[in-house]
Amino acid sequence: MKALRKIQNAPGAELVTIPIPRVASDDVLIKVEAASICGTDLHIMEWDSWSSNRVKAPITLGHEMAGTVVATGTNIDPTLIGEFVSCESHITCGSCSQCESQTPHMCPNTEIIGVDRDGCFAEYISVPEKVLWHTNRSKLNPKIAALQEAFGGAVRASLAHNPRGKTVAVLGCGPIGLFSIAILKAAGASKVIATDTNEYRLSLASEMGADSVFNPASDANCGNTLEWLHKASKHNIDIVVEMSGAPVSIKTAFKAVRQGGYVNLFGIPPRPVEIDIADDLIFKNITILALNGREIFDTWHKTRELLESGLVDLNPLISHTLPLDRAMEAFDLLKNGKACKILIEPNNS
Ligand SMILES: [Zn+2]
Ligand SMILES: [Zn+2]
Repeated sequence: MKALRKIQNAPGAELVTIPIPRVASDDVLIKVEAASICGTDLHIMEWDSWSSNRVKAPITLGHEMAGTVVATGTNIDPTLIGEFVSCESHITCGSCSQCESQTPHMCPNTEIIGVDRDGCFAEYISVPEKVLWHTNRSKLNPKIAALQEAFGGAVRASLAHNPRGKTVAVLGCGPIGLFSIAILKAAGASKVIATDTNEYRLSLASEMGADSVFNPASDANCGNTLEWLHKASKHNIDIVVEMSGAPVSIKTAFKAVRQGGYVNLFGIPPRPVEIDIADDLIFKNITILALNGREIFDTWHKTRELLESGLVDLNPLISHTLPLDRAMEAFDLLKNGKACKILIEPNNS
């Protein structure tokens, strides 16, 4: 089968032909119909400091997918063959105290698909049966089904504090920030305002329902952005959802939120960030929620509800659909800021 693999511990990846994976006893084999590219894949492709410390080549990339079960391991019910599924990308150990207390999303032994074991930018992938998320093909097509994993991250981060009737600022309009805008509107936020340095993303932010958008591109000290946020919210931002991970944006989040407000941190900064704890946190009595991944599988249920009901339509965010042979082109488009979500169809050349 064809697979996009990192062959060496260095930047880049290669499209290669490898055997279809052997199915371990607790696994299933999935024929991948759609797989989407995530910011994490870009980091691994570029071989930044995080990925070079974590990822070990050779490995097939990709962790967001949908497809059909075509084989089952010896411990798994063979009637699963033919099921349409997506997957939770975090494979938890099942035996640590977090897993045993029904909070597996905090498992310290988590193994991630496409990071710690072979991923889904391939015609087939073998995954443990326990990460399958059964999906109704008549309600979600393979491309939307493949987005559920990434969308779930945004669902958890956006709804960590109930946004109904609240004014919310979303900082950073990459795919996860754009998902967040749609989720917040669907969940009844009264006003959603958003910032990003890319005009293409800001136009998508408006399309997903943002009431007002701002480009802080030339604002190194966050003064103008703060002024805009105060003006657009009438000095009353109840919740900031920080999706960019940019240090300047994280600082802005704490300065922009109202007294007693919430800051939900989801974007991952590339380095430590200096925060004015006295003035921006303690004297403001704010609550900080730091979030990663999805609650397994609670978040997936909320995700299903939002997508199947039609409350959120992700189609405007799918900018390209490409065969696996053109995956490297997809990475270039993303690097140049000319794409939003790109779907790869490994079995469609
Ligand atoms: Zn991802
Ligand atoms: Zn565990």
